[in-house]
Amino acid sequence: MVYRFEFRPYQLRFKRSLVTCHGVWSTRDGIILRLTNETGTGWGEISPISWFGSETLEQALDFCRQIPGEITDETIFSIPDELPACQFGFESALGGLGSTPLPTPPSLTYSGLLPAGEAAIEAWQTLWQQGYSTFKWKIGVHETQEELEIFEFLTHTLPASAKLRLDANGGLKLQEAHLWLWTCDNVNANDELPVEVEFLEQPLSVDQFQEMLELSSCYATAIALDESVATLNQLAACVQKGWQEIFVIKPGIVGSPSRLRQFCQQHDIDAVFSSVFETAIGR
Ligand code: MG
Repeated sequence: MVYRFEFRPYQLRFKRSLVTCHGVWSTRDGIILRLTNETGTGWGEISPISWFGSETLEQALDFCRQIPGEITDETIFSIPDELPACQFGFESALGGLGSTPLPTPPSLTYSGLLPAGEAAIEAWQTLWQQGYSTFKWKIGVHETQEELEIFEFLTHTLPASAKLRLDANGGLKLQEAHLWLWTCDNVNANDELPVEVEFLEQPLSVDQFQEMLELSSCYATAIALDESVATLNQLAACVQKGWQEIFVIKPGIVGSPSRLRQFCQQHDIDAVFSSVFETAIGR
């Protein structure tokens, strides 16, 4: 099959900047793709997060610029693994072709993202009113002691059915990770605190896999790998090295959607799917 290929970069400012231990992120830069042939039009989106492990926007743009205006399936399925966000964008555009309207996804439950620091204390209430009951809070941004105090306040004030996920983005020191996991175990074991801490996400940096594996055997609170499994090859490697807790998968940057689907069918993993702050097209 031959498809007409067009692309356009976009830039969108977040309503509220995302603050992680890597710094402040204010603008989503990405690329919208369109494939057309006689069966219809397919849309796709390339939304890299290079600090997370994908290609850079510039590399994705270079790739789009060097391919011709007419492409084939072979062009799409031979995008190198070094361009995982491009693999996602092109393959999902292809998947959308000829299947309009898009199939309705099964009803999903989402976790609402709280701002880092004490702003979380106000922010959860709005999200709760919007129907969220699971919240994700970024840690490793401020001093541990300060964050532990806010955490304690949150665990005492969140409604009984609320669930909390902590995300350190790889920013904790080993001792801090122990302290957080110990604290989470205590909250989960305390019947007077009805809030459940579901997991701690990526406590340590990607090169500290072994330490995270050891942490996972020391505490009841689950650990989720996120940065460690940014791409499909990393995901496969962590499964192979014996990770048995949670995997956070960002389809927008992990690579080929068909290979991801196949991987999830072949391996019985506990997966959480996560956004890369893409537009509705990528979502
Ligand atoms: Mg994360």
